[in-house]
Amino acid sequence: MEPGPGPKPDWLKIKLATGSSFASTRQLLTRHSLHTVCRSAMCPNLHECWSKGTATFLLLGNVCTRSCRFCAVATESRPELPDTREPARIAEAVKTMKLRHAVLTSVNRDDLPDGGAGHWAETIRAIRAVNPSVSIECLIPDFNGNDQSLDQVMAEAPEVLNHNIETVPSLYHKVRPQADYSVSLSIIERARQKFRLATKSGMMVGMGETSPEVEASLLDLRRHGCDMVTIGQYLQPTAAHLPVTRYVTPDEFEYYRCFAQQAGFRHVQSAPFVRSSYHAEAFSPAEPEALS
Ligand code: SF4
Repeated sequence: MEPGPGPKPDWLKIKLATGSSFASTRQLLTRHSLHTVCRSAMCPNLHECWSKGTATFLLLGNVCTRSCRFCAVATESRPELPDTREPARIAEAVKTMKLRHAVLTSVNRDDLPDGGAGHWAETIRAIRAVNPSVSIECLIPDFNGNDQSLDQVMAEAPEVLNHNIETVPSLYHKVRPQADYSVSLSIIERARQKFRLATKSGMMVGMGETSPEVEASLLDLRRHGCDMVTIGQYLQPTAAHLPVTRYVTPDEFEYYRCFAQQAGFRHVQSAPFVRSSYHAEAFSPAEPEALS
């Protein structure tokens, strides 16, 4: 058995921010019957983000058809059919929350012929119809690499197309056994080359990767046209999930931040609690002329 990472260091102690907005964000999400990845994935930043009145909407239910070993989203039951009223409810919530930047993500829906791409496209259109000035960030699943589904979402021209590689390729069989590293890279490349979108990806560390492997993945992302990147500490959501192998120090996160910046990423967030939608509003969409 591999040795565990030991007790949580001080830099991973969560500060529970509970501003007045926390309760109203929670009430609003409940009122609109909306799922968030903040809650479904047990994000450590939930108190901070909800207290600032932001959240990341989880489309297509809260049951995933895959079983990635790092993720807390439920997988045991059968997912329900997509809720056709969800796009309108999200659009209303974006308006009520006065969001300037709305972040959407979804579970994997390998049970649906289009992987849920049509529902994604409808949600983007519904948000824009009610909130014409909002920017939209789509943290998409891989749609099994289905070009038609990917194109359906990308053609809606979200201001940021985000797709996480999650980890280094040598750990895919352990971390995301139903996913493929090269497919994830090709999604970023497609968004950039075919649709000229601003692209973003993210990875977790502390799962057994080495530092040279992280560097190699950052360079892979750059080579495939990724503009922005997030790097954060993996935290085991329950005892049934993949164990943490080590707690990466704040100095190492700073090293990765500098490495990524030197590699040419336009925006980099690298710190223990960084998640792919953390402070997403600070990741401004690319100027068209900045795209090469
Ligand atoms: S970092 Fe993202 S997922 Fe986590 S609470 Fe904030 S908005 Fe939600």
